[in-house]
Amino acid sequence: MSKLSRDRIISSLRNIVGKEYVETDPAAIRLYSKEASGLEGVAVAVVFPENAKEISKIVKFAYENDIKIYPQGAATDLAGASIPEHHGIVISFDRMSKIKDYSIVDSYIIAEAGARLIEINDVLSKEGYMFPVDPASMKSVTVGGVIAAGGGGLRGALYGTMREWLMELEVVLPDENGTVIRVGCRTTKCRQGYDLVRLFSGSEGTLGIITEATLKITPIPENIVTVAGFFDTLEQAMEAVVKIKKARIAPYAMEFVDAKTVEIGKQNLNLDWDVKGNMLIVSVAGPVEVADKYIKILSESMESAEASNTMKAASQDEAEELRLFDLRRACYPSAIQLAAQSMSPDKSKPLILIEDIAVPPTKLPETVKQLRALEDKYGLPLAIYGHVGDGNLHPTTWIDATDEEAKKKVWEMFDEIMEVALKMGGTISSEHGIGLHKKRGLEMEMKHKRSEKALELMRKIKKIFDPKNILNPGKVI
Ligand SMILES: Cc1cc2nc3c(=O)[nH]c(=O)nc-3n(C[C@H](O)[C@H](O)[C@H](O)COP(=O)(O)OP(=O)(O)OC[C@H]3O[C@@H](n4cnc5c(N)ncnc54)[C@H](O)[C@@H]3O)c2cc1C
Repeated sequence: MSKLSRDRIISSLRNIVGKEYVETDPAAIRLYSKEASGLEGVAVAVVFPENAKEISKIVKFAYENDIKIYPQGAATDLAGASIPEHHGIVISFDRMSKIKDYSIVDSYIIAEAGARLIEINDVLSKEGYMFPVDPASMKSVTVGGVIAAGGGGLRGALYGTMREWLMELEVVLPDENGTVIRVGCRTTKCRQGYDLVRLFSGSEGTLGIITEATLKITPIPENIVTVAGFFDTLEQAMEAVVKIKKARIAPYAMEFVDAKTVEIGKQNLNLDWDVKGNMLIVSVAGPVEVADKYIKILSESMESAEASNTMKAASQDEAEELRLFDLRRACYPSAIQLAAQSMSPDKSKPLILIEDIAVPPTKLPETVKQLRALEDKYGLPLAIYGHVGDGNLHPTTWIDATDEEAKKKVWEMFDEIMEVALKMGGTISSEHGIGLHKKRGLEMEMKHKRSEKALELMRKIKKIFDPKNILNPGKVI
């Protein structure tokens, strides 16, 4: 805990970044102290640096005076990783959002940490290129936030997660000097001893403050076909996933939405689809000439898994016209809607809680069966959707935030959901990270693998990078 008064902290920060770039208004501070998970902290101030040099000075000042620092992108985190839990300073990247350079021939784009992924794709799309990691929260998220969260997205089955697309990072370390380092290279092949670039990916703002990133880019596919299948049971939809995987095609996207979320999504989005059931939506990229072949493989795989209906799009334009992906992208708002409908608005405050397990795709049918059994056991609602191409499911529940008994029940159910994932050979967190919510889950996973020693190593790594525990303390480990 710092011995400095709030006024001294604020005046020192103003000396570093300028008076107008330190926010002290309580209402504004509150906005920057919340994240999408529903968790909230209380910051002393929010600071808006312009470059790595200013961040380095902020860190040096924080180190000398034992002040906690919380890097924050768009605060869409769902694991409790970005909130200022122990007061301290929130560092916002709102002023560090420039796209600095890109090269199609060298296949990279360089951006400051606060640049939004959507802006990067706006620039690249004019050249026929894209950055392929696309969280459902794509319109808001920042480069630094997604790197630190280790995010993934709808195209994860084909393109993986953030760590696969990092080339070089500039990072400010939480040491006595606020040292600025550059790790990685702007070449695809790069050996620099231990892989520090990928250590920062998924470190959730606990090891260093990312200020700039060089990201790999890839051409936009010539054409994308999409087939959506509707199934009476969850298991049938998951069987279709397995059949498509066996058909030797690599899906560009493979998403799943359960029947009740489909129904509410249809209402919310005014979709006049004459179909119902559990939806599996699969896209495949390739030349226009093979569109019919891919549609046939996808449709036949779905029909042989008892799909009651299919919707087909031979191009991205057709998929957009049919609004096939809108429903998947709207799953979170749909869960909010389902929650609101199930509670009396004047007496309760809906709280939405999202799980983030992954299992090997062959284990999806058994996994969803066990999830439905847990829904019955706990008597809590469970919407199930996710990026099933890589086995990632987001079982989502909702309760009244004021109901302490229900909260206890949710955490017990989530423990059991994580146990199911581990028993299936999966993981407790695929892309949302550990933050505060999943610290117990991380311990469960390492214990399950008889690898508690790995936790010890992580604690030591944290200590080496952040000897005074000033950077996003209490998160992850
Ligand atoms: C509706 C919805 C859908 C979502 N869908 C997906 C999805 O499909 N896939 C997915 O992966 N996630 C998803 N998420 C979760 C969230 O969007 C991701 O975790 C995202 O990567 C966070 O980016 P952000 O800019 O909001 O970062 P924040 O939430 O602000 O921060 C995330 C973490 O990164 C740290 N951080 C932020 N900036 C920096 C920096 N410059 N240097 C060091 N650390 C930093 C923070 O301290 C925190 O630990 C979803 C969230 C919502 C609300």
